[in-house]
Amino acid sequence: MSKDRIETKVMHAGETVPRVRGAVCMPVFQTAMFEYTGEKSYDDLRYIRLNNTPNHEVLHARIADLENGEAALVTASGMAAITTALLTVLSAGDHILAQSCLYGGTHDFVTRDLEKYGISYDFIDGSRPETWNDLLRPKTRAIYVETMTNPLLEVADLEAVADFAREKEIISIIDNTFATPVNFRPLEAGFDLCIHSCTKYLNGHSDIVAGAVIGTKQLIGKITRTLNHLGGSLDPHACFLLERGMKTLAVRMRQHNESALRIAGFLEKHPLAERVNYPGLPSHPGYSRAVKLFKGFGGMLSFELKGDVEAAERFIKALKIPIIAPSLGGVESLVTRPATTSHAGMSPVERKKLGISDRLIRLSVGIEATDDLLEDLELAMHSLS
Ligand SMILES: *Cc1c(COP(=O)(O)O)cnc(C)c1O
Repeated sequence: MSKDRIETKVMHAGETVPRVRGAVCMPVFQTAMFEYTGEKSYDDLRYIRLNNTPNHEVLHARIADLENGEAALVTASGMAAITTALLTVLSAGDHILAQSCLYGGTHDFVTRDLEKYGISYDFIDGSRPETWNDLLRPKTRAIYVETMTNPLLEVADLEAVADFAREKEIISIIDNTFATPVNFRPLEAGFDLCIHSCTKYLNGHSDIVAGAVIGTKQLIGKITRTLNHLGGSLDPHACFLLERGMKTLAVRMRQHNESALRIAGFLEKHPLAERVNYPGLPSHPGYSRAVKLFKGFGGMLSFELKGDVEAAERFIKALKIPIIAPSLGGVESLVTRPATTSHAGMSPVERKKLGISDRLIRLSVGIEATDDLLEDLELAMHSLS
């Protein structure tokens, strides 16, 4: 762990010493295998799938340092990080507690795939720690949450999650994609494993799919062995792009934080908006926890407008700057209706139970000029009347 501030770490943490032939940027080692130099075990052979090329090593050290963890592992996608971590930590007969509102892919994996491995689950309400103990079983091995939920940006009692896991000797896992280590570092708060979809803010440029998991050397070592066999390894060129994207993480997050906070405030005051979900608004149920734990509130927000689904669609289509697309966390603003994209896999009943209405609009605030985004939103409001 280096003492540098995060703005410096994103640039230099994990660099090779000396630099490769003096190169200021880490070159791409586009080679599947490396010469044998007497490695003793299969996992130590140098091969892209074994996650140990120079491009992997630099990224591992940098991401571990950003999250103040001992070790990190990059993966071919956020879902590869999540599934590989869960399949490492859980065995047949085990049980996991998971937050009720999860990223769609994670939700499906927990509810549909884990069963095939003989692993059971229960959902918890992240803001009611007093209810968790009753769901604990002798074979409960892990508790899984997200820093902020999608698309309502709920903030679970994260400190209680880490404490509960320590007390019950189970593994606490958190998907920190929405916060990034700039806004929140879960390992410092006592979590055992921190996961990212690097597709989002860590890379930040909407041009690759990647994931990461950070934790102790021991846990990351075990997850690496699983990944070595499951094969969801990141290729060196994507490693290079991720490293490049991460260099601007701190400045990007500063702009995302500032801009989304202003936009959320604007929407909340707007007579045509009904409900705005952003953890930086005092009206948000997670506000006090967010203020205590996070350095910034991130670039994601969601809202409902007066009127029906058609009005929401009209509004989205009237926007000129945000692109209508799924995914999030890039430099360009993106807008979607979660009922048709991120949460289309859920039944309307399930969505309703979680509070996700069909007219809910989700905005991933990019780093365009905030004033331009505000003008764009205001003009689109006129399409409602
Ligand atoms: C996108 C996302 C994932 C999945 O990541 P991929 O890189 O698309 O596999 C997991 N968790 C969260 C919170 C996400 O936003």
